[in-house]
Amino acid sequence: MRYFSLNHKAPEVSFQEAVVKGLAPDKGLYFPNTIESLSESFFETIESLDHVTIAFEAIKQFVGNEIPEQDLKAILEDVLSFDFPIVEIDKNIASLELYHGPTMAFKDVGARFMARCLGYFNKQKDSQEDITVLVATSGDTGGAVASGFLGVDGVEVVILYPSGKVSDIQEKQLTTLGNNITSFEVDGVFDDCQAMVKRAFLDKDLEGKRSLTSANSINIARWLPQMFYYFFAYKALKHKSEALVFSVPSGNYGNICAGMVAQKLGLPIQHFVTGTNENDTVPEYLKTGNYKTKSSVATISNAMDVGAPSNFIRIKELHDHDFKKLKTNLSGFSYSDEETIEAINYLNETKNYIADPHGAIGFLALRDYLDSNDGIQGVFLETAHPIKFLPVIPKQIADKIETPTQIEALLHLEKKSFVISGYEELKHYLLNN
Ligand SMILES: *Cc1c(COP(=O)(O)O)cnc(C)c1O
Repeated sequence: MRYFSLNHKAPEVSFQEAVVKGLAPDKGLYFPNTIESLSESFFETIESLDHVTIAFEAIKQFVGNEIPEQDLKAILEDVLSFDFPIVEIDKNIASLELYHGPTMAFKDVGARFMARCLGYFNKQKDSQEDITVLVATSGDTGGAVASGFLGVDGVEVVILYPSGKVSDIQEKQLTTLGNNITSFEVDGVFDDCQAMVKRAFLDKDLEGKRSLTSANSINIARWLPQMFYYFFAYKALKHKSEALVFSVPSGNYGNICAGMVAQKLGLPIQHFVTGTNENDTVPEYLKTGNYKTKSSVATISNAMDVGAPSNFIRIKELHDHDFKKLKTNLSGFSYSDEETIEAINYLNETKNYIADPHGAIGFLALRDYLDSNDGIQGVFLETAHPIKFLPVIPKQIADKIETPTQIEALLHLEKKSFVISGYEELKHYLLNN
């Protein structure tokens, strides 16, 4: 498989090059040259296939012959070693829980897949150049990347996070692993972390000294495996409905865009719904036809505090840059923090279900869509375990949440981080370590 840059000013590359580079030299996102539908018999027999087989069928054309079948299956076996349960909330609404992995966020799947692909490529080379994964996080991404890359040979991970702005559990996930994971606690906000990462990628002094790559959803190896969730949900719900509507709480639009790739592969998805917090760039666009990015504002669903979603360009590409086409496939709704809390309370009181703020937004968006579209089976994606957002969950609900073993194990570990206040300190580290 070849990948081209969506800025159209860089050469096509292989899967491996796209994964190692992250972003094309013209700063465009990589996109697959072709997307071939899967066979009808695959969808007819999907109930009898296990998750690894389904994932292998879905991803194999995107990897091509760059990772042999046996090795790719072994990678997937390792990546998908936890559950993806469907919980029925109402007669036509189900929650797809994507938080049963090691860091209890859906980003585990993409981070683990990317880490293992890089690990595989490193093993194939004799004289290998170490790769440094540089990532800025507002909380969830960093933890999933740290856990996913822990102990991967030839890869060093450097994480930047805003001091005092991530939850205690998230901070433990970022700072306690050691080994090939280094964390910098930045005296500033998330945007400062992000700006330092961008500067490092453009810094000529680092060229030739460090091979830097990113691990956010612009990287195809983090983005594409997210399509597996949609296949797993279809497998679980096929007996109830032949076509599904998915509601996805969105920030950078990597997850929902991966679902649209699954749809292109032939998965019967009738419609997508995006739910956002007040960072409503995409719902506004769907209303007005006018795409206007904004600066992000802080909300209680902070993994979606994004005003300029990086993957939206991929969504446009998947719909041939045709606004009408996009509108028939995607609806969008945005919610305030108050509405989010109300939904968490409602789900707890009437459905005995505890949602995190992101999942609650997915639920609201699905309910609003189904209000005017009867008789459809909908699934909302529950993207993080509520324990990770305890401080913003109403106390009487928070008190009921049991601490999962993954989290329990973290709590007594010791935080190791370096406090930095500016880019020069990061650069000094990258040049001298
Ligand atoms: C990252 C994240 C999102 C948003 O996903 P995108 O792919 O960036 O749209 C939603 N919920 C949680 C919990 C996240 O960590």
